[in-house]
Amino acid sequence: MKLFAALLDLLFPPACAVCRGRLPEREQFLCTRCREKVLPAENCCLRCGYPLSGRMSCSRCLGYDYAFSGACAVFLYQGEIRKAVRRFKYGGQTGLARPFGELMAAQVRSCAWPACEAVVPVPLHPERLRERGYDQALLLARTVAKVLQLPVSSCLLRCENTASQTTLAAKARWNNVRGVFGLQPGVTVPGRVLLIDDLLTTGATAHYASETLLAGGAEAVYLAVLCRS
Ligand SMILES: [Zn+2]
Ligand SMILES: [Zn+2]
Repeated sequence: MKLFAALLDLLFPPACAVCRGRLPEREQFLCTRCREKVLPAENCCLRCGYPLSGRMSCSRCLGYDYAFSGACAVFLYQGEIRKAVRRFKYGGQTGLARPFGELMAAQVRSCAWPACEAVVPVPLHPERLRERGYDQALLLARTVAKVLQLPVSSCLLRCENTASQTTLAAKARWNNVRGVFGLQPGVTVPGRVLLIDDLLTTGATAHYASETLLAGGAEAVYLAVLCRS
């Protein structure tokens, strides 16, 4: 088995998950250049995960009262990262769930959050799932859960199929996702939830997902995303 793995590495040397460049030794997922783009959790807004870059208060979440208690992101959604995320989300490259999920788990570990009881992915609507064939947030959640040794809970449902958030302006995004989430009947909502999504833009989706979880009995929701935009 070891020999087989070594042979595979020789034939297909592991490449950077983002730019597919060469990996330095002892690095599992990112080349040196892409590693530098990982957001330093200690210099990011505790509420929304956006980098503070020396400022005292956050320009991105000012005026928002999110239902989640904290958020962290691995990357800013731009350049090469954005292309890689799109390959993962729309291009069928589901193998990226492992490196991305592991980077998210590491980011969660570097936040001083109280221990969560379960990982909950922000769900896709079943119709969207049929179109795409896979649920990218669920794939990320599974890796995060495995690394952090937590169960994945499927207590959260998306009851309405909404227009994609990507084409909407900020205000419309809030209206678009209000009331779309529900709870799976008969599934207990965990006390402290680690909510997982691929992207955080206005925070509207994560806010309403968190609100639904809190209404269903969760004590607190912490949010981890792959990218912040
Ligand atoms: Zn790279
Ligand atoms: Zn913020």
